[in-house]
Amino acid sequence: QSQELSQVQIDYHAALQTLLEDGTRMVCTGRMHTDRICRFESLCYSTEAEEFIYFHSNSSVMLPNLGSRRFQPALLDLSSVEDHNTQYFNFVELPAAALKFMPKPVFVPDVALIANRFNPDNLMHVFHDDLLPIYYTMQQFTDLDPETRLFFMEGWSEGVHFDLYKLLSNKQPLLREQLKTLGRLLCFTKSYVGLSKITTWYQYGFVQPQGPKANILVSGNEIRQFTKFMMQKLNVSLEESSSEEYIVVFSRTINRLILNEAELILALAQEFQMKTITVSLEEHSFSDIVRLISNASMLVSMHGAQLVMSLFLPRGATVVELFPYAINPEHYTPYKTLATLPGMDLQYIAWQNTAREDTITYPDRPWDQGGIAHLDKAEQERIIKSTEVPRHLCCRNPEWLFRAYQDTKVDIPSLIHVIRQTVKSKPGTKKKWSGSLYPGKVRDARCQASVQGTSEARLSVSWQVPWNLKYLKVREVKYEVWIQEQGENTYMPYILSHQNHTFSENIKPFTIYLVWIRCIFNKNLLGPFADVLLCST
Ligand code: UDP
Repeated sequence: QSQELSQVQIDYHAALQTLLEDGTRMVCTGRMHTDRICRFESLCYSTEAEEFIYFHSNSSVMLPNLGSRRFQPALLDLSSVEDHNTQYFNFVELPAAALKFMPKPVFVPDVALIANRFNPDNLMHVFHDDLLPIYYTMQQFTDLDPETRLFFMEGWSEGVHFDLYKLLSNKQPLLREQLKTLGRLLCFTKSYVGLSKITTWYQYGFVQPQGPKANILVSGNEIRQFTKFMMQKLNVSLEESSSEEYIVVFSRTINRLILNEAELILALAQEFQMKTITVSLEEHSFSDIVRLISNASMLVSMHGAQLVMSLFLPRGATVVELFPYAINPEHYTPYKTLATLPGMDLQYIAWQNTAREDTITYPDRPWDQGGIAHLDKAEQERIIKSTEVPRHLCCRNPEWLFRAYQDTKVDIPSLIHVIRQTVKSKPGTKKKWSGSLYPGKVRDARCQASVQGTSEARLSVSWQVPWNLKYLKVREVKYEVWIQEQGENTYMPYILSHQNHTFSENIKPFTIYLVWIRCIFNKNLLGPFADVLLCST
């Protein structure tokens, strides 16, 4: 990977002339700052002011042209974390003529993707906030090919997982600090600013307690396309015919420990008659961990960022997440949400330590490792007595940190019991794609009415199967029919197996009915309703 910027020779004078004459050109996607990504030509950056610069000229373009709304609160989010007030992007505006009085611009010839990493020292944040969003932002814009140069503007140093960021493109990513060494005024020939949030599944609790995002838009398929790419880059091959089945215990070695890990490993091995191995970020290379997890039948770990590695588990595998005392598993679900994304095809099991005598607390540690000695005595006592951390906002709640950094002696029988409620025989993996496809609309829907006397009527409705059914293997095909009297808010719903039905219950003569029909595959794959049928009795 090349550190220096220029591989493409650019004609400096031509580039400068273009900048002076054309200024900056910006066209963005998205209606709000939270869903916006902008494409720029000739976006500049002053490494002294640490500000981006938009140069106005006769040919410059700014879409959206928000006026002062550009500051309410910002043009866009520079990280994938929604509306975080430390992650906003904006630029200052200057007339292109001001260039005459400014340092000589240094042109960046590579197509740039400019963004913020959110927390590059935490593996969950690395994958969820940065790697997946960068990967899919690059998929969204064809200019962002493997020769893209990534610019990380959050101001952190490389961090412990920088090698992972390097896998995303063929060029060395550059950090904000490094820009100073390139020049005082940098001008990006072509750049994209911002990250797609389409793959994120979790909100960390900045405005409401943490939990799954309200509208998750990613499925296991896209996650697995990304992990496939990462594994290729890491030179980890998917073993098609994995010889032996095994369980992986992902351990932490610094804090939030499993105190009886050896006993746990023996118990798992014995219960499931499988080899059981441990890995940790401290003792294994990243590639080794990926290689081991990608063929494992079960992954067992304390709650914590290392569990994001379940991304690499094969379909059908089981994730077992262990929670320390007083931490309600339902309140901290980044890994549960991941494991249960549609199409991830993982089984998820949470176990919580409910025995106070099995937990070791560290009240005297620094506050950021869960110490509570800095709090007043009454508050310390309340926390120590409490049996559950109440819901809270991110990120410095002392009671949460205190409980999160406890060590745990795992009660083996209770753990085996909860695993056995889900994993009946041997934990296993399945290599097959189990994608679910939705029905199309039913076709040629018709109705025929008949009136019997003054108070009774019948409605015969028929339709054809959805057009895509003939190309699919579907276990069960059913139809849902809603009959709604015109002008009424309620309707009568029916689930039917055949393509026609005569309705006589509650059907009145000389009335107009609206009939809604949709197809359902395999009980839960609901198709779209066909155009409503108007039927007069
Ligand atoms: N970490 C680790 N071993 C430890 C403690 C932490 O590998 O004993 C890793 C952890 O997986 C994460 C980073 O260090 O990637 C920061 O851990 P922290 O406890 O701050 O975050 P959490 O795991 O609670 O998200």
